[in-house]
Amino acid sequence: MYQLIDGQVRTGSAGEEIDLLDPSTGESLGSVDLASTGDVDDAVAAAGRAFEEWSRVTPAERSGLLAKTAEILESRAEELAQAETAQCGKPIRLSREFDVPGSIDNVAFFAGAARHLSGMASGEYSADHTSTLRREPIGVVGSIAPWNYPLQMAAWKILPAVAAGNTIVLKPSELTPTTSVLFAQAFLDAGVPAGVVNVVTGRGADAGAHLMRHDDVSMVSFTGSTRVGRTVLEAAATNAKRVHLELGGKAPFVVFEDADLEAAVHGAVAGSLINSGQDCTAATRAIVHRNLHDAFVEGVAELFEQVVLGPTRDEGSDLGSLISFEHRDKVAGMVERARGYATVVCGGRSPADGDLAKGAYYRPTLITGAAPDSEIVTDEIFGPVLTVVPFDTDDEAIALANDTVYGLAASAWTTDVYRAGRATREIQAGCVWVNDHIPIISEMPHGGYKQSGFGKDMSHYSFEEYTQVKHVMTDITGTARKEWHRTIFRGA
Ligand code: NAD
Repeated sequence: MYQLIDGQVRTGSAGEEIDLLDPSTGESLGSVDLASTGDVDDAVAAAGRAFEEWSRVTPAERSGLLAKTAEILESRAEELAQAETAQCGKPIRLSREFDVPGSIDNVAFFAGAARHLSGMASGEYSADHTSTLRREPIGVVGSIAPWNYPLQMAAWKILPAVAAGNTIVLKPSELTPTTSVLFAQAFLDAGVPAGVVNVVTGRGADAGAHLMRHDDVSMVSFTGSTRVGRTVLEAAATNAKRVHLELGGKAPFVVFEDADLEAAVHGAVAGSLINSGQDCTAATRAIVHRNLHDAFVEGVAELFEQVVLGPTRDEGSDLGSLISFEHRDKVAGMVERARGYATVVCGGRSPADGDLAKGAYYRPTLITGAAPDSEIVTDEIFGPVLTVVPFDTDDEAIALANDTVYGLAASAWTTDVYRAGRATREIQAGCVWVNDHIPIISEMPHGGYKQSGFGKDMSHYSFEEYTQVKHVMTDITGTARKEWHRTIFRGA
């Protein structure tokens, strides 16, 4: 039962059933009847009907319902954490301390933000008229999410949309639908009307593509790979939908000569291994001053060896599995090819025996000596793999950081305030951390530059995507024959 359409949990009618797997054990978690394009039509129609009422609900009422949703989710936090861990193969500590609280905080943030939708001041910009601005919802939003953070992605998609008065049809990844349905159910339980939040679990190429092309969907919001993002752009062109794209990343991690080495080493380990590296902002390309290069490599390798791969439900496990065996093999393939032109300092393998061998695990992997234009340095790996490239001058470091089609996130490690200032100005990415890498916060926007997409998740900035601004201009002279009419016709 992985479809939530018009307030009803139901099975999909595509006639295709797939097995949900816990990728850390290879065990089945049950089966999913996938959604058909007809199910997508039902969900879009329900969202369209619900929009009539929801778009007229006062901000205070919407805010109250979202606050109640946050309370309900809080009471189900452990159930959500267990479900997220099982379907993703991620360690329970990450689900409990990052995914679940982060998602609930997003709901709480938007409960407040719903009451603060605002625009620029209005007034008499023409002497004869008063101009006012109306910030209005757009209509039915079609959203597509990836498998790496299913719960947080559901939150990032649903909250700004519904807080602004839109209704939504969310298609999670068919690999990880469980927590999206549990999350959406909480809105219903809080009293949000049926049809405001719908979830359809189907294949990307049919249910997903149909949702993106649907004539009754006014906006599409997609998080996933740059490859699929391009097809979403094409689909949206059919009826000129508004588009919001959050795509891939290949974040540089720039360690300048004056950096605090211990901080950089620990930051690189946490920043590259979060969610087994299946994080679009993960540190993937360490760019390290030549004087620190060897010490940095030694420090990271030492810590990588200490990382505990273990059963995902065990609080003591640092690293879980990758999302699937297929994805694990893709990561392993890239590392194997890199052996031909670079040095694998540590990792580069899966556990060979014991229980972990039954899951899609892969050891933290550090690679040096790869040319900046080699596959392992330029392509998104989406696994626990960090490459290290040396540099000599600051100019070179900035050029290497920007030598990518992506621009989602980056970090600069330095104790020099001027270097930090230059790096934050010149690195082309939607987020640049200084002396840290990864933290996100509901109040601040998340989104890419370049081929990492456009538009923002989280924060007030997301309302720019999920609302449209109407200019209302009202005559304040009360005259029938206005001066400007004479330009068009002189009359009698
Ligand atoms: P993906 O692009 O393969 O799939 C994402 C979603 O798109 C899934 O729900 C999938 O079913 C759907 N889909 C696939 N083909 C489709 C089509 N033709 N039309 C419509 N929908 C389709 O990505 P993934 O492998 O699930 O996730 C990993 C990718 O997501 C990485 O590239 C990662 O960087 C990116 N990502 C980006 C962000 C961000 O905020 N920028 C966040 C998380 C993940």
